[in-house]
Amino acid sequence: MADTEVTIFDKIVSKQIPAKIVYEDDLCLAFKDINPQAPVHFVLIPKNRDGLTQLSKAEDRHKNLLGHLMVAVSKIAAQEPLLKDGFRIVVNDGLHGGQSVYHIHIHIFGGAQLTWPPG
Ligand code: C5P
Repeated sequence: MADTEVTIFDKIVSKQIPAKIVYEDDLCLAFKDINPQAPVHFVLIPKNRDGLTQLSKAEDRHKNLLGHLMVAVSKIAAQEPLLKDGFRIVVNDGLHGGQSVYHIHIHIFGGAQLTWPPG
């Protein structure tokens, strides 16, 4: 897809589509997944993906944004009691990765003992 296409996540950022937001800062926001796959399932997205439809499009200029997202994961985990014993992050990339929304995002799972390997 074109990297300028408006995604459903852009509409969550612009508040055109409602979402249960659990974290927000100047560069990103996280919300509760509408189809949770664990007791806690958040989706963390950059507000401006800057061409990052998926992780495999990452370039050197994205280092700051990608680092920011990782630090945001840590902050989100620290504020959610159900994540105190640990959590898992997942980035689905492309067809084989099972990606459905082409606006880079990090899934945050937790609230129970997760199994390994994931399917
Ligand atoms: O990695 P993938 O692209 O499949 O993940 C997209 C996720 O976004 C899904 O888990 C889906 O449930 C979630 N979603 C959401 N709210 C929407 C649309 C999708 O939480 N309005």
